[in-house]
Amino acid sequence: MSSTVSSLQLEPALPAVAGADVAVPLANGSQVPYANFDYAASAPCLLAVKDALDAALPLYASVHRGAGHLSRMTTRAYENARQTVRRFAAARPDDSVIFTRNTTDSMNLLASCVPLGTTVVVFESEHHANLLPWLHRHFVVRLPMPRSPEDAVATAADVLAPGGLLVVTAASNVTGELWPIDELAAAAHARGARIAVDAAQLAPHRPLDMSNVDYLAFSGHKLYAPFGSGVLIGRGDWLRDADPYLRGGGASKTVGSGTVIWASAPEERHEAGSPNVLGALAISAACAALDAAGRPALAAAEERLFAHLRSGLSSVPGLRELSLWGPDSPRVGIVSFVIEGWDPHSLAQTLSDSYGIGVRDGKMCAHNLVRQLLGGTDGSIVRASIGLGTTRAHIDRLVTALAELTTVRA
Ligand code: PLP
Repeated sequence: MSSTVSSLQLEPALPAVAGADVAVPLANGSQVPYANFDYAASAPCLLAVKDALDAALPLYASVHRGAGHLSRMTTRAYENARQTVRRFAAARPDDSVIFTRNTTDSMNLLASCVPLGTTVVVFESEHHANLLPWLHRHFVVRLPMPRSPEDAVATAADVLAPGGLLVVTAASNVTGELWPIDELAAAAHARGARIAVDAAQLAPHRPLDMSNVDYLAFSGHKLYAPFGSGVLIGRGDWLRDADPYLRGGGASKTVGSGTVIWASAPEERHEAGSPNVLGALAISAACAALDAAGRPALAAAEERLFAHLRSGLSSVPGLRELSLWGPDSPRVGIVSFVIEGWDPHSLAQTLSDSYGIGVRDGKMCAHNLVRQLLGGTDGSIVRASIGLGTTRAHIDRLVTALAELTTVRA
């Protein structure tokens, strides 16, 4: 799993996002261009994705079972979308690529396929999408938040055993920090276990490489496509042997009175019902556009922008950046912080109402992690995350606004 990027001299041509110049109302009735710092929640749609959907929209039909021209055309497009996503993830040729609703759905699907009796290892600090699907169904070893990437590998290695599964997030949705996926994968495999990776926050920011990862999940709406599509990619055996995730047409090969023979290919077995074809086309159009733009170059451009953001934030009085492993640990374009004297929700509201700046506040669906980052107390934080529509001017507006607000309070 690639987590480092080389720095380039030239800014690459960034794929354009829709609505980049939208104006939003302020509490005083005026309007300002929106400065969106909430990419980690949902990224705006790429224009290339919108174009792909516009092209697909007037002419589509149900996939897989129709003999008509439109049905065959749509089936071809849907299956091509699967291959585009496979390339984007650098998956193995025999990996299954299953379209889901989002990462949460992918993890629940995987949890339903992991054989009963498997020991599942997770860190307490995981996003709830990676923690909760396992708890009611499997024997789960919950590891404390690691003190360092090395500690993460060592503590996981201590408890991983043959036949087990380690589930881990590649990039934190709270701090943006990159987890040592290659090392964790090596530790899991050395002990005869597998690794499932939540790439919801990695996929929009860094190239993926599944060569040493058994399962990978991500969401379209964080990858510059609209809501409703996600993927689970990975080894076919557990997926092939499990009960269908949903029961219905498409998942079944033969139905008699009292008997059902389920389809064996995981893509059929776990995609019962009419699939979200437009969602699949959207996520694949996003994958294709990001690949075409050159993902190492996009990542390098983002790193420069993100350095500007963090340097600006470091000048804001009373602002404390939150981190698992210290300020120098590599991360994607996500930063969370608290500001002395400011309630996170009031701060987020004020940034929106008075400056037209959108940040996130709350516990980021990672309550255990946020509690740890706040020294063991329950509370909220503010998160600013960047993406393809972010400019240096947006960052300067955020930093100036925070500086003004902290000066007013001082
Ligand atoms: N994993 C991580 C790291 C996330 O940041 C998120 C969403 O915030 C999810 C999983 C869940 O994604 P979705 O809501 O698309 O299912």
